[in-house]
Amino acid sequence: MSQLDTQTLLFASIFVCFLMSALMTLAALQVRRDACLMWVATGFSVVGLGALVTVLRLWSPWLLLVVWLSNSLIILAHGCIWVALRKFAGKTVQWRLVLAGPAIWILLCLWPRFLTEPAWRVLAYAVLASSYFVLVLREIRPAWRQNAQAVVPLAVVLVAQILIYLFRSVLWVGDFQFWSQRPDAALTIFTMMIMVICIGFTTLILVRGREEYRHLHASMQDSLTRIPNRRALFDQGVSKIDAAASEQKELTMLMCDLDWFKQINDQHGHDMGDQVLKLFARVLHDTVGEQGFYARIGGEEFVVLVAGMDLQEASVLASNIQHELGLRSGRELIHTSTSIGIAAATQAGYSLHRLLVCADTALYQAKADNRNCVRLWSESMKQGSGPAVRHADQKLGMSSI
Ligand code: GH3
Ligand code: MG
Ligand code: MG
Repeated sequence: MSQLDTQTLLFASIFVCFLMSALMTLAALQVRRDACLMWVATGFSVVGLGALVTVLRLWSPWLLLVVWLSNSLIILAHGCIWVALRKFAGKTVQWRLVLAGPAIWILLCLWPRFLTEPAWRVLAYAVLASSYFVLVLREIRPAWRQNAQAVVPLAVVLVAQILIYLFRSVLWVGDFQFWSQRPDAALTIFTMMIMVICIGFTTLILVRGREEYRHLHASMQDSLTRIPNRRALFDQGVSKIDAAASEQKELTMLMCDLDWFKQINDQHGHDMGDQVLKLFARVLHDTVGEQGFYARIGGEEFVVLVAGMDLQEASVLASNIQHELGLRSGRELIHTSTSIGIAAATQAGYSLHRLLVCADTALYQAKADNRNCVRLWSESMKQGSGPAVRHADQKLGMSSI
């Protein structure tokens, strides 16, 4: 490394910083002007500017200016990366803390001893720059649970850079002669260049990971009621059923279909129909809540899956849903009722297909029994319900499951 020409490396790193800044800006524009990527791009420009200032070192009268200006710019760039990750986490910019690092550096430069002791400068720089990266690690920690694969690369890069800063400080403070010569400058510039590339790519991975998660989440959500949709039922419902089966837990499915819903649309308009659907989703949220999973699987059809409830308890839940819907729809919109069919996995089987068919058969029975009632599926119901099962298969598109 000592053979490397420091000036050439410096110019190469300046070029890389500005190039990466331009590429990150392009990437940001592609993801709806993503603020995180924009701030990373800003950070890279600032670090490039800081490196550019060090070129003035060639003219000795500028040496002091170089020490405080270039380093405070590079420390500021670390602050920009922190802002980027705060933006990623949906938080605001804490300007005081962003400017605190460069300000402390400039204040330290006013102290003559600081300027004559390179080891102190290396240590102060390491502490200030690492502090911002520690803050970045704090910002990305919550995203860890959501998308560990996207968070890990950036975390590794940041930890590696913190370790490099600490290692360099130890070498300087310990006064290892071999280090205080040429390799330090060349290595510092070299690692800065590598870090810019690594931070750029890992933040891109992070932002892309979040976008993918958003798209996946959107594809599993019903756009009108904002509750899980039919696709989510086939995705999450199956895993809930499998989990209940392996734990030998009771599992019940409630299938709800709003009564005379077409009439609501016809007599009060489609908007009123939409309001009723949204209200029913809120009713499910308030009555089922965390106890189970609920989804809108079709026009005015909803499914609830609850684990650890027997048929009796599920019937009570169904009555609560009916009661709440009647009360709130009458008070807020137009009185609406729902018919509910219930099937238990202990009888129907731990299979989404079976549960849907059986709960729909029970629902069909509830509709036949004058609506606004709850019916529990039983083997006997199945015997006399050939048409209902066919109806369920058709309606739920079972052939595609
Ligand atoms: P039943 O009591 O037998 O269930 O009768 P129904 O009128 O509720 O059932 P039907 O299947 O005849 O009508 C369902 C209606 O739901 C027809 C369709 O126009 C309406 N619908 C489906 N999706 C939406 C939606 O997103 N918004 C609104 N407003 N209406 C919808
Ligand atoms: Mg229907
Ligand atoms: Mg209906």
